[in-house]
Amino acid sequence: MDHKTNPAKQAMEMTAIWQAARALIQEQLAPPVFDMWIKPLRLGRADDPQRIEILASNDFSASYVRDHYGALLTTAFSSALGQGARLLFHVDPDPPARQVEESPASPPPPTGARFGVDGRYTFENFVVGSCNQFAHAAAARVADAPATAYNPLYIQGGVGLGKTHLLHAIGNALLRARPESKTLYITSEKFMTQLVDSLRFKQVHNFKENFRSVDVLLVDDIQFIAGKKATQEEFFHTFNALQEANKQIVISSDSYPGEIEHLEERLRSRFSQGLVADIHPPDLETRMAILKKKAAVEGMELSDDVAFFLAEAIQSNVRELEGALIRVFLLASLEKEPVTLSLVRESLRGTLRRGEPRLLSMDKIIETVAAYYKIRPLDIRSDKRARRFSHPRQVAMFLCKQLTKASYPEIAREFGDRNHTTVLYAVDKIASQQQVDVDLEQAVGTLAGMLRK
Ligand code: ADP
Ligand code: MG
Repeated sequence: MDHKTNPAKQAMEMTAIWQAARALIQEQLAPPVFDMWIKPLRLGRADDPQRIEILASNDFSASYVRDHYGALLTTAFSSALGQGARLLFHVDPDPPARQVEESPASPPPPTGARFGVDGRYTFENFVVGSCNQFAHAAAARVADAPATAYNPLYIQGGVGLGKTHLLHAIGNALLRARPESKTLYITSEKFMTQLVDSLRFKQVHNFKENFRSVDVLLVDDIQFIAGKKATQEEFFHTFNALQEANKQIVISSDSYPGEIEHLEERLRSRFSQGLVADIHPPDLETRMAILKKKAAVEGMELSDDVAFFLAEAIQSNVRELEGALIRVFLLASLEKEPVTLSLVRESLRGTLRRGEPRLLSMDKIIETVAAYYKIRPLDIRSDKRARRFSHPRQVAMFLCKQLTKASYPEIAREFGDRNHTTVLYAVDKIASQQQVDVDLEQAVGTLAGMLRK
């Protein structure tokens, strides 16, 4: 695309590209995450693809988005644009008035008690297996008799295993049984941003009131408040106020209270006070039952052999299982074909090639990076120091961090049992070098593009 053409036309094109990039990102992020971080962003100056300005409503959001979604945005932009893009994240000098009105710190809508509870996730469409039986029973008990049995209820489990689903299910059951009760679902990240915004907009009082007036507080992914001092402090007081008033608190996390690093001791002990219920990855039968249930909800036919094939192929978590099923249905409807085993094979192959970040294995990344730099995967995993090997190795580590959910220690293990600080260093180095080295930036962009295909 020629960017030296008519400026008005060019601006229009950039707006379209921005929209395309946003649409790409929307596919990759959970809806609440997209709504919170990406949706409020505005396109600023964009006459030079190497200096595209993205505007956020405040400092905090600008740096948060840059750190957490910068790479994703850059990749999306580059692929929408058809060439390498470089993004700059700034605070919006002229935020649209609407953003202030809708700022999360403003008081909640006065009517209705369904704060953040998503009606789609209920106990009825939660499949119970030995992996989640205990957490399910505890959640059902809490919904039945809040603030009597376990307070707090702490649900622990890995990614995509149904924690968020159970939290909403509790909310939905409660709202059905006691329509007058005030139930609030929130992620701990959102709790934090609302706190930050309330400080910024001088509405701390509203913030406190808002949280302390609920009957049931459902807090998702509490691990994110670790290390955030002010947020932990505020959450501690909210927790105590609610518990003293005999209100129910339900918390979810990917780790046990004792395992969350940089979590204040007093929170740790509060979290362990009630019941800690864990969820494990589902076994084959449960995975099949989940697929069948999901198909039924979608009004689709799913034969046993197809369910079996999918359940065998995708063992990691329920979210990926569901994603695969949806892609199968989509492909079937696009191709106007029934959901047969061969169609499923085809669609799964597409999945792995197109590579949703979570489905990408580090193996695949290492293989692709090695091929790109014309060395062997073995060289990447070795400790050979020559730059010919060490550079691709660092790029591969960086991509593993960006494109998978693996932690630093997990990546370190994959790369021949190194120390995790080596990975940290590599990721940091590539991230900052990319800012000044266009070739590197392009290589990383190309590789990310190849891996996502
Ligand atoms: P988590 O919060 O633990 O990461 P989610 O609750 O978001 O996981 O679950 C991911 C997806 O899998 C959701 O769409 C959810 O409805 C579905 N899911 C998870 N566990 C079950 C289950 N036991 N029965 C039915 N659907 C499930
Ligand atoms: Mg969740």
